[in-house]
Amino acid sequence: MAERHLTKTCKVISAFSTAPYKTRVLTQQKTESIENECFFIKKNDQSRYACVFRNYGQIYSNNYLIILTTKKSFFTFRQRDKETKMIKPTDITLPADLQGHDLGTGPIRSHRPVYQDFLPPCNHACPAGENIQAWLALVQAGRYQQAWQQIMKDNPMPAIHGRVCYHPCETQCNRKQLDGAVSIHAVERFLGDMALAEDWQIEADSKPSGKRILVIGAGPSGLSAAYHLARLGHKAVIYEAGPIAGGMMRFGIPAYRLPRHELDLEIKRIESLGVDIVLNRKVDNLLADKKEGLFDAVFVAVGAQLSKRIDIPARDASKMLDAITFLRDASAGNAPKLGRKVAIYGGGNTAMDAARTAKRLGAEEALIIYRRDREHMPAHSFEADEAIEEGVKINWLRSITEIDENSLKVEIMALDA
Ligand code: SF4
Repeated sequence: MAERHLTKTCKVISAFSTAPYKTRVLTQQKTESIENECFFIKKNDQSRYACVFRNYGQIYSNNYLIILTTKKSFFTFRQRDKETKMIKPTDITLPADLQGHDLGTGPIRSHRPVYQDFLPPCNHACPAGENIQAWLALVQAGRYQQAWQQIMKDNPMPAIHGRVCYHPCETQCNRKQLDGAVSIHAVERFLGDMALAEDWQIEADSKPSGKRILVIGAGPSGLSAAYHLARLGHKAVIYEAGPIAGGMMRFGIPAYRLPRHELDLEIKRIESLGVDIVLNRKVDNLLADKKEGLFDAVFVAVGAQLSKRIDIPARDASKMLDAITFLRDASAGNAPKLGRKVAIYGGGNTAMDAARTAKRLGAEEALIIYRRDREHMPAHSFEADEAIEEGVKINWLRSITEIDENSLKVEIMALDA
């Protein structure tokens, strides 16, 4: 252990010289970014430089292999001739070690490594376009509020996404090939909840643009659009036809999956940015409303809100409901009266939600009927597991052919061996 104190000073553009075991800093500038940080090392009044590649990992100075841990004060230096390679376990792929050849042999004698940054697969898969790698690195450094601010640049509702997003980021995570995916979804929820508990506010410093934008619909799309417009300095006004904001987040997702308290707080935070939400305001004539409100542009975010229809011969159609209407009425407190047994036709996530909601509304038996097998159902596997845990029954490989007053006729399929 040779020395212990490092002072962050500058950003590295390129770190290697062609000489073996030497590093040099080509440019110096202050940076708040924790990526590509460079540290200035002093030893016996002689200046030495070393640099950090990416977030954490190895850094080299003339004679020392420097091993980073999360906190700067814990940096340890090891003499190169007693080199012990220890790299802090990290979720982030480290660059290749090109100094692994002793006595100056190896590629660094003649090659300068060039690192290129590409989007990691998680960022690419995230429908909200979050810079996951950046905020995870901040979380890893213990900088939770900055991590949250980083998420908020792309996604105004992390506490909601941390609960209901199907986290395709984790499906794509290439760490799965090593052990398991990074728990991005859970960390996002942790940050979202912490922000609500601590009442963190958004840092956005755009000057007012003087533009007014009308957003039609206060669902997830309209709220997000209004939020980003407000961050850019525009005045966003949302006209919502219903009596409450939230759209399908409120009326399509059951409260046991998305508690209304968190939903309300995240909507309130969007309003606190200066977004006006006008409820019970249906837009029938878009151009007239645009003109009347002196809006410069309109964003239409009315959603689809339609269930899939199927054609089944039924004598008593009054006993059939579409799932979206059923979930909406249940969320609004106007749940229809269900019988003892409820059959749900379909194998998607909405079918799982409808079955679980029916159970909560008192149905003794909620039976999902789906025409394919479990492997081919559109619902996520964990959704089916949770439904089964709650007592929902699922009959695979069946399709309903006829509905009578008190019975259904199903066709059972079998897979070829
Ligand atoms: S869980 Fe969060 S980071 Fe992952 S895909 Fe969903 S919104 Fe993106």
